[in-house]
Amino acid sequence: MSDVARIEIEEFREEVRNWFTENKPQDPGFLLPETFMEVGTDEQFEFLRDWQRKVYEAGYIGISWPKDYGGGGRPQIFQDIATREMVTQRVPFMPNTIGLNWAGPLILKVGTEENKRKYIKNILSAEDIWCQGFSEPEAGSDLGNTRCSARRDGDDYIINGSKIWTSLGTYAKYMILLARTSKEKSSKYAGLSFFLAPMGVDGIDPEPIQKLTGEYGFCQTFFDDARIPADCLMGEEGDGWKTAMITLTFERGASGGQAGGTSMMELNAYDVLELARRVRRNGKLAIEDTYVREKLVSFLIEFRGNQLMSAREKVPGLTGDWPGAVSLSGKLRNTELRRRLTQFSLSLMGANAARFVSENSVDGGKWQRSYLNSFSATIGGGTSEIQHNIVGERVLGLPKD
Ligand SMILES: Cc1cc2nc3c(=O)[nH]c(=O)nc-3n(C[C@H](O)[C@H](O)[C@H](O)COP(=O)(O)OP(=O)(O)OC[C@H]3O[C@@H](n4cnc5c(N)ncnc54)[C@H](O)[C@@H]3O)c2cc1C
Repeated sequence: MSDVARIEIEEFREEVRNWFTENKPQDPGFLLPETFMEVGTDEQFEFLRDWQRKVYEAGYIGISWPKDYGGGGRPQIFQDIATREMVTQRVPFMPNTIGLNWAGPLILKVGTEENKRKYIKNILSAEDIWCQGFSEPEAGSDLGNTRCSARRDGDDYIINGSKIWTSLGTYAKYMILLARTSKEKSSKYAGLSFFLAPMGVDGIDPEPIQKLTGEYGFCQTFFDDARIPADCLMGEEGDGWKTAMITLTFERGASGGQAGGTSMMELNAYDVLELARRVRRNGKLAIEDTYVREKLVSFLIEFRGNQLMSAREKVPGLTGDWPGAVSLSGKLRNTELRRRLTQFSLSLMGANAARFVSENSVDGGKWQRSYLNSFSATIGGGTSEIQHNIVGERVLGLPKD
């Protein structure tokens, strides 16, 4: 890297740090969701949407996306710096996660020029929220079992069936939709098609589902003769499986190209360390317990290790033995760590851990909420068992059966 480039990067780092320090929103006075999967009230949604718009207008998301479509047109390193600063300063997350991290990169990779001009800028500004219609009551891990149908009728497709666990379904203007356009006998994957579908047409009804924590955030989306224009089809009819698989590589972080920013405000290993310093277990501060200290050290090492993994991935000499190991294992490592970490945080409280919705609960019950929410990410986007299979087959070369 030249000295000029180095100076430009350092100046940018300083600029970003100052901007977030000055513009980080005040506590809104109501509970914010932990991740984009738990946005359940209009006030939460509006607050987060305004925040994303502000960050975009300041130029700190979509930095590496093409200028022609509303991005910043700069090298990825600038986005990495801005995103890092958002994590460090723990600012609210970007609610349009599905648009920024999987629909957007997908459109940039395989979309038409018209798609890019129509959708990309409004994804960045949070003008258009996106959701994902892949899972169905009978098709989750086994996505090829998709039954929701799309039948061509003149200039439209008519959609019937239902999708489930649609995060942000009630706020979304568009859905990336996988639907069956024919009952191909050769393989269940043939006959699937991929759509960039509007949610505002008659016959689409997202019904909110309540979660373990009492929060909302996802829906069952019903389609009853919903007509969407035929030009919503992405790629060729019958080619949807391939497009869905590309989408999943973005969703699971196995491919780069996302717009940046964060999609959660979760508790981390340093928060748990701080908790251990002030809660009591067996009559003394948790941090004084040798077992607790030992566990904390191993959590801190694992947490820091995961943080450094993305930097490691960019150094070929450190990944050559197992190409793809870092990117293909990222979701599994991070989500399972969070689940174990939040479970451990409850064990620090002893019997108090049972108090979730109580005026005596530690920190207003945020640890219990985090623990219950931690299962979401170990399921959404492909369960941990499926991620283990992927690592086994694609990284370690183990047989499928
Ligand atoms: C919070 C949250 C948000 C979500 N948001 C969305 C969304 O916005 N859009 C969307 O389309 N979907 C969404 N999902 C759905 C998610 O993608 C599915 O729940 C997931 O793919 C699992 O599918 P399933 O629930 O049908 O479980 P199943 O596939 O029925 O799995 C049941 C169990 O069997 C195991 N299993 C299944 N197959 C295998 C196998 N081959 N090997 C080993 N174990 C196996 C699974 O690991 C799991 O433990 C969301 C889910 C959650 C929890």
